[in-house]
Amino acid sequence: MTRVFNFSAGPAALPEPVLRQAAEEMLDWHGAGCGVMEMSHRGREFMSIIEQAEADLRELMAIPQNYRVLFLQGGATQQFAQIPMNLLGSGSADYLVTGTWSKKAFKEAQRLAGPLGGTVRLVGSTEAEGFTRALRADEFALDPQATYVHLCTNETIHGVEVGDDGLPPAVAPLVADMSSHILSRPTDVSRYGLIYAGAQKNIGPSGLIIVIVREDLLGRAHPLTPTVMDYKVMADNGSMLNTPPTYGIYVAGLVFRWLKAQGGLAAMEKRNIEKATLLYNFIDASGFYRNTVEVGSRSRMNIPFLLQDDALNEAFLAGANAAGLTQLKGHKSVGGMRASIYNAMPIEGVRALVDYMRDFAAQHG
Ligand code: PMP
Repeated sequence: MTRVFNFSAGPAALPEPVLRQAAEEMLDWHGAGCGVMEMSHRGREFMSIIEQAEADLRELMAIPQNYRVLFLQGGATQQFAQIPMNLLGSGSADYLVTGTWSKKAFKEAQRLAGPLGGTVRLVGSTEAEGFTRALRADEFALDPQATYVHLCTNETIHGVEVGDDGLPPAVAPLVADMSSHILSRPTDVSRYGLIYAGAQKNIGPSGLIIVIVREDLLGRAHPLTPTVMDYKVMADNGSMLNTPPTYGIYVAGLVFRWLKAQGGLAAMEKRNIEKATLLYNFIDASGFYRNTVEVGSRSRMNIPFLLQDDALNEAFLAGANAAGLTQLKGHKSVGGMRASIYNAMPIEGVRALVDYMRDFAAQHG
């Protein structure tokens, strides 16, 4: 068996010890005589799995007591609709747009706002600049009456990230799409009203989405919200109104335990800074590769880069694949390459990528 260094933006690489443990437990979980995929979600065994997963996530992110953790389905895309259905009411929500994903979230909210009886506003966008930076707080004015303010704190396609220090002023509950950088750095959960993240990048298999929501935001859903999409109903039922994505929750739990064993989120952040710095420094100094994101807005997780000449892209990818460095093709809307280096990517993978990029530039520069 040869495992490659997989730079996929998602579904993405998972920590190898997690995959090994899942494989070992596939046929018989802890003497249950069956695997996790085969057990009742309401049985004692699975209940212990979901409770431990939540406890470990709470510990990792220091989630305050007045927040609920929901294990849901439907991906982040479903949240683009579910958020206004649950939170908009007859009020108005503000949206910040810094890339493809926050733009999609805004479009979906805009589509639904009328039927829901509310409004949404696009208060700031960097689209005219090709989504190459985060928004500065002096560029937009939030509505102090807004029911919520939506943003995407890591734009997976454009490689634009903001941490807690780059958040807009807290005039209204902040709702953040953290799909592609959750658990990559410490987060002050108390600064957000709601955090959501699809699992398939830093958490586990696709099909699971985690929502962390402040309790006072529950119980506001539009009456036509499908029951299964009502956060309060899901919170009241321990995410088990219906059958939850059990296997995904189990793998997420293994990832949480792995993160704790690595030293938690402060330790992950240190490693992620080291990995991202290595790659950005190399790109900037190369004279052959380019990352066009403003330095202070650069993502530690998703690093898009262009080659000196697009005509070399195919050769670059073919050579990378042959060297065991896979899924580096950039998103078609940005072009070039993209290296996604989530928690599970070891520094050795980034070093191998830099070595390959150096050789390639020497041959073709
Ligand atoms: N938001 C972000 C930041 C993403 O990266 C993605 C997926 N790449 C999505 C939303 C959409 O996720 P899903 O396909 O799970 O609906």
